[in-house]
Amino acid sequence: MLAEKDKKYILHPFTTYRENEFNIPVVRGEGALLFDENGREYIDAVGSWWVNLHGHSHPYINQKISEQLNRLEHVMFSGFTHAPAVDLAERLLARLGGSFSQLFYSDNGSTSVEVALKMAVQYWKNKHGETRKTCIAFRNSYHGDTFGSMSVSERDVFVEPFLDLLFSVGYIDVPGDTTIDSVAASLEELIKQHRPAAFIFEPLVQGAGGMRMYRPEHLDRLIAICHTHGVLCIADEVMTGFGRTGKWFACDHLRNKPDLICLSKGLTGGYLPLGVTAFSDEIASVFTSGEAARTFYHGHSYTANPLACTAALASLDLMEKEETQLDLVRIEKAHRQFAARLASHPLVQDARVSGVILAFDVNRGDEGYFYLHPVKNILYSFFIAEGVVLRPLGNVIYIIPPYCIADAQLQQVYKAVEKGLEHLQNEFS
Ligand SMILES: *Cc1c(COP(=O)(O)O)cnc(C)c1O
Repeated sequence: MLAEKDKKYILHPFTTYRENEFNIPVVRGEGALLFDENGREYIDAVGSWWVNLHGHSHPYINQKISEQLNRLEHVMFSGFTHAPAVDLAERLLARLGGSFSQLFYSDNGSTSVEVALKMAVQYWKNKHGETRKTCIAFRNSYHGDTFGSMSVSERDVFVEPFLDLLFSVGYIDVPGDTTIDSVAASLEELIKQHRPAAFIFEPLVQGAGGMRMYRPEHLDRLIAICHTHGVLCIADEVMTGFGRTGKWFACDHLRNKPDLICLSKGLTGGYLPLGVTAFSDEIASVFTSGEAARTFYHGHSYTANPLACTAALASLDLMEKEETQLDLVRIEKAHRQFAARLASHPLVQDARVSGVILAFDVNRGDEGYFYLHPVKNILYSFFIAEGVVLRPLGNVIYIIPPYCIADAQLQQVYKAVEKGLEHLQNEFS
């Protein structure tokens, strides 16, 4: 049995091993559906960990990758370049707008963050001969699993074994209407005390930290403070990029723009690993003076892989279609109606929507740290039995569907959520 062999040979990510629990062998995907080896189908209501935009095994992306595959599969990206990388850079930068004028390719979300952090630190070195040793980040943030990206993430169960090895970071709270003044004051204080290299944030929605949402006006104010003091701002849009918040990028909701932006996950439509860190001329210029000591010494073997860049270009083609833009509106509207319905449920707290992301907390008022909340295991298996892939973050249930999800499928997901809540009520009583 495949699942047994899998368990024997492979250690899976973020997986706590329990007896008699196996990973489900998936053999095929089509649109919003995944099919397992027994022919059972599941609606992928979390876009395969927030990467999938247009559905699984999309004929158009498949065709584009297959054409590229017959021309060139890979070439090292130092001393060589290729059309998919250049076309993608040109189109992404135009889409990002503002002062973004160059980008750096890497392999995934964590590396796109790692690159941004390293560039920010080296920027101060190259430009002013200054060593800046800290960054500012939001409490509850998640920026990835490499050491730099762990350092700027919340000091939670994910990073506990590595605490002593992480660089020091100043944390500020995620702002709310009643707290923005004090958050702004702490930010200013931290900047004055520690001269940080950068402020890094997940704009508008914190993903792995529990789909926490906050207002663009508040982030605008914090960015303005950083810019007054010359601190670089890094927007980690690995999760929020490519339509998740209803616009192309969460930063499109802002008046004040970041200096660096990190993209991955939805970048290739969920097909292949690729990371992008984009930045302004001002930042690019400190790395291109021609001096060895000012060079950005960073790179990955598969950087700017032509197949991944081609998948990203094809995904951009699909994103640009009016149909897709209408899907974003359609899903957000359905989400808002469902959130309103959920609001009165006794187990539901803070039903919230940003674009195609719907989330709420299951709250009985007695939980500890949210990620290890027992609700996760109870509901995950329940949803799987219902034929819906929903992967609660502890006691936070969220939906991030592929944009092609049909209305009927979306309603089926909502129904599964309501049944799940009913199931929990019975478990709890
Ligand atoms: C997932 C995620 C990352 C890490 O991306 P990986 O590709 O998993 O390394 C970084 N930042 C945010 C906001 C994320 O959601």
